[in-house]
This record gives sequence, C-alpha cells and structure tokens, in this order.
Amino acid sequence: MIVIRIGQLADQLGVHRNTIRNWVKSGKLPARSMSGKRYLITEAEFGKLCQEFGIDRSSLKLKYVPGAPVTTREVGVLEENVRPIGRRSERLLDTSQWGDVCLTCGSCASACPVSGVDGFDPRKAVRMAVLGLDEQLVASQWPWKCTLCGKCEEACPMNVEIVALLHRVRGLRERSRVPGPLHKGVLMCLEKGNNLGIPRNDFVSLLNEVSRELHDEGCPGFAAPVDVEGANLLVTINSKEPFAEPDDMKYWWKIFHAAGESWTIPSDYWEGVNWGLFTGDDEALKTIVGRLVENMHRLKCRTLLLPE
Ligand code: SF4
Ligand code: SF4
Repeated sequence: MIVIRIGQLADQLGVHRNTIRNWVKSGKLPARSMSGKRYLITEAEFGKLCQEFGIDRSSLKLKYVPGAPVTTREVGVLEENVRPIGRRSERLLDTSQWGDVCLTCGSCASACPVSGVDGFDPRKAVRMAVLGLDEQLVASQWPWKCTLCGKCEEACPMNVEIVALLHRVRGLRERSRVPGPLHKGVLMCLEKGNNLGIPRNDFVSLLNEVSRELHDEGCPGFAAPVDVEGANLLVTINSKEPFAEPDDMKYWWKIFHAAGESWTIPSDYWEGVNWGLFTGDDEALKTIVGRLVENMHRLKCRTLLLPE
C-alpha cells in the first residue's frame, strides 16, 4: 500500500484536490482517506493512475505501508459512561462516525474568515454534527454565515469535509426559512433563467446599449458578441450587473477587446451565480449548471467563465 498526500497527488495530476476527493467518493479511484490529508492507495491502483497521467513514479516521494491502517480513532468506551446528547444520523456526515476523526484542534476556526460572527466557528458546527445536534444546527444561523470558501478544509489536519457538511445543513433548512432573497432567486432562476428575472429582450437591448457606450468611450466598433458559435470563452454574468451596475461589465469587456479575445455571452441562461449552491438546493444547482453546459455545447465554446 502507498500513502500519499492529497495535495501532492493533485499537483502531480494537475487537478484540484476536490477532484481527487470526488474520484475517491465515486469509487473511480479506490483509496481510503487517512488523517493528515493523506490517501492510502494500493500499488496496483497507483500504478494505473501513474500510467493514465504519464507520471514518473521514481520522481515521487512515496511511503509504503504494510496492510490497512486504522482511518478513524478507535476508542474503547464503556456504554454506561456515555451520556447521549443527540441522535447522530447520516444526514449531515457521509457516515455518522466520520466526524470522530475531528481532533477539536481549532485549526479550521483559526482559518475561517467569519469565525466569531454571531458565535459561529466551523469546529462548533462539526461538534454539533458529531454529537447528533442536527436539528439545532439546521435551525441555527451559523451555516448561513459561512462563505463556502473552503479555508477551513485547507487548514484541517484530518481532512474533515466541513464545506460539504455546511452545504448539507443548508439543504435541510425548510425552503421558506432560507434567509434573505436566496431561495426566491433560485426559483426565479429556474423559471426565468436568471436570479433577478431579467427578460431576454431587455438583457440583449442592455448589452447593445452598453456596447454603444463602450464604442464612444474609446473602443471603436465594439459590440458585445451574443450567441457567437465557436468562441473560446463563454462568459456568464452576475445578474446584479445588468440589473443595477451595468458599467461593471465594461471592465471585463475592455480587457477582452484589448486582448483580442474570442468570447461570447449567451442570450439565454447567462446567469453566472448559482444560488442553488449557496442554499444547499442540489436539484436546482444541477439544473442551473446543466443549462450552462447546454450553452457550452450549443455554442461550441471551449472555456466557461464564471464571475464568482
Ligand atoms: S468554508 Fe465556511 S466555515 Fe469554512 S472557512 Fe470558509 S467561511 Fe469558514
Ligand atoms: S481543523 Fe479539522 S480536526 Fe481541527 S477542529 Fe476543525 S474539523 Fe476538527
């Protein structure tokens, strides 16, 4: 068996660490998660991976271990000494034991940019899940303070999937109790194609109007390319820009124009902010992502640009 750090493997393969986590979760890469952001992989599987990605194994520092290690702490406790606090379920964690690997070290809390806001910190959220305080966590405001930036996971020595946990917690909140306009934005996006319900014709007219302004401001002949087939970049837009700050679009456009970039904006389903992600609404999330993918195929673009 081989032990390899997730960051090292990601660097070698040229993929994001989350891609590797997803491969492991889906079974595409048979491996076991270990403490210290490491994975345990059989030599045969590792050999296949190296072959697929053309990696020279001799260039890697690898640690070989016999047999299978313990991946979670095995702590012997007498049942009579255990005082149940909540009923732990698998709704929040992949397996109800998963959070047991948490050391309560607080590294996640130190790394989190919103630690301390209304008493939140990610370590507390993990503890609540581990202790089975699901309902209290779902009902609390804490998961909604999180920006889903992932810094806590970067800092966690035990590879606890804190972002996935907080995402699940948000998804369990009754939709009518999702804070702010987020859920309304999701419904609007599903129905009208963008979070603020801007009609297609108004959007295209606005693009033309802003293009004319840019033309007058020093980009002669500029016209925002709409639905251009075969462009390199498919550019999506945060709907607050056409709604309230259309001049902000000019910054991107000037750069594309000066660089001679090949780009286009789709006239439908151009929303670049997926509030399904922020609200834990996985079905909406998939639908909105699916529309972007359809646009990529329809317009035969090579690269998708998201503003957020
Ligand atoms: S993902 Fe959320 S909990 Fe983690 S560091 Fe970012 S804001 Fe904090
Ligand atoms: S950094 Fe990881 S191990 Fe440490 S408290 Fe946070 S979740 Fe637990």
